[in-house]
Amino acid sequence: MEYQNTLAFAQQLDKEDPLASFRNQYYLPQKDGKTLVYLCGNSLGLQPKNARAAIEQELNDWARLGVDGHFDGKNPWMYYHHFLNEKAAHVVGANPSEVVIMNNLTTNLHLMMVSFYRPTPARYKILMEASAFPSDQYAMETQARFHGFNPDDAIIELIPREGEYTLRTEDILAKINAHKNDLALVMMGGVNYYTGQAFDMKTITEAAHAVGAIAGFDLAHAAGNLHLQLHNWDVDFAVWCSYKYLNSGPGGTSGVFVNERHGNNQDLPRFAGWWGHDEKERFKMKKGFKPMQGAAGWQLSNAQIFPMAIHKASLDLFEEAGMANLRKKSELLTGYLEYLLMDVIHGESTIPDPSTGRDAIHRISRDATNKLVKMDLPFTIITPSNPAERGCQLSIIVKKDGRKLFDYLQSQGILPDWREPDVIRMSPVPMYNSFEDVYKIGESMKQYFSIDNM
Ligand SMILES: *Cc1c(COP(=O)(O)O)cnc(C)c1O
Repeated sequence: MEYQNTLAFAQQLDKEDPLASFRNQYYLPQKDGKTLVYLCGNSLGLQPKNARAAIEQELNDWARLGVDGHFDGKNPWMYYHHFLNEKAAHVVGANPSEVVIMNNLTTNLHLMMVSFYRPTPARYKILMEASAFPSDQYAMETQARFHGFNPDDAIIELIPREGEYTLRTEDILAKINAHKNDLALVMMGGVNYYTGQAFDMKTITEAAHAVGAIAGFDLAHAAGNLHLQLHNWDVDFAVWCSYKYLNSGPGGTSGVFVNERHGNNQDLPRFAGWWGHDEKERFKMKKGFKPMQGAAGWQLSNAQIFPMAIHKASLDLFEEAGMANLRKKSELLTGYLEYLLMDVIHGESTIPDPSTGRDAIHRISRDATNKLVKMDLPFTIITPSNPAERGCQLSIIVKKDGRKLFDYLQSQGILPDWREPDVIRMSPVPMYNSFEDVYKIGESMKQYFSIDNM
């Protein structure tokens, strides 16, 4: 697509956008009567307007029926997770039996670790991204300790090469191979929360399996963002939250994927609860845990109806829009943001990095002696430029006083998010952000850097 930096062009893209009407299905935050440009869908997705009715339905059934709501409600609570499976499975590219919605993300990560991190004295290492989301770091660290290992020894961290911000797949694969004899688990994000880099989950999974390791992914920043194919990629397990790209409310429920190769394996150790027990016998209150087939067999507790009601309503909109369509728009939308950001620093001479052939145009430059140097531009987009290596989000590092730019954008009615120590993350999401939203970011950035902030 040949982009143009004009309002008319942005509005034309909105006019041609087959998903444009979904914006009206969400509450867009306002300030002083003006609709904000919301860019924090990667942190807390916006409220779908159908959420309220979904909760009211359950409140009404509870008021009307009391305990009988479990069987006689419009959506009987006893079977509530069944109503979410299929649509959640479509979002992550799984068979419905491979998915269950329950608990919260970090809880589910630990539950999966119980089943899939089964270290032996010889094979006990976990490979993960350095600077992964803190909850994931703490989970891996304490899991290693729980099994009697020293986390400094058991956890291998993937660190970008000198002068680079993101990981190269070849380096990830090399690390997996280097540890072919002691690697138990590859546990990475699907999309890194900080850099916005999307990992090649299919290739990483293959490499993990080739050395006899398990491949698990935390999809907090990938679910509802990338067009995932967990089943076809043969991922072993995955977890995600529902409140980021999946718009299901603060502290919302979480999703789990267990590959069907494992789902019916009753020998896998697991921490069980009554909701994972064979549904037909659940209320017989008998001794002896007999897991349900598939991911449902990992459930612990009876369903949290209210967060799940919101999630159900939100998933209806994903089902209607379709992940493939959302992803198509997302590439266009984030591509447009990248184009506009590059336009702000247009004229600076940047070149592809010839040593790698990677399209690092916004990372590498040459100094007066023609030596490659880290770019000395007002800001750097650290998210990969290749659409296959990113989702919605672009992360930028501002050379000087990033917090000041962040505050300026906020004063202009734009809501990006700030991550310590120095990153501004912008996530235009295809469900409710418009091309005009993205155009406004470009205008504000141009304004800011035309003043005295270079
Ligand atoms: C958002 C996020 C979390 C948050 O975990 P909760 O248990 O939902 O609080 C964990 N891991 C990653 C990678 C995240 O992006």
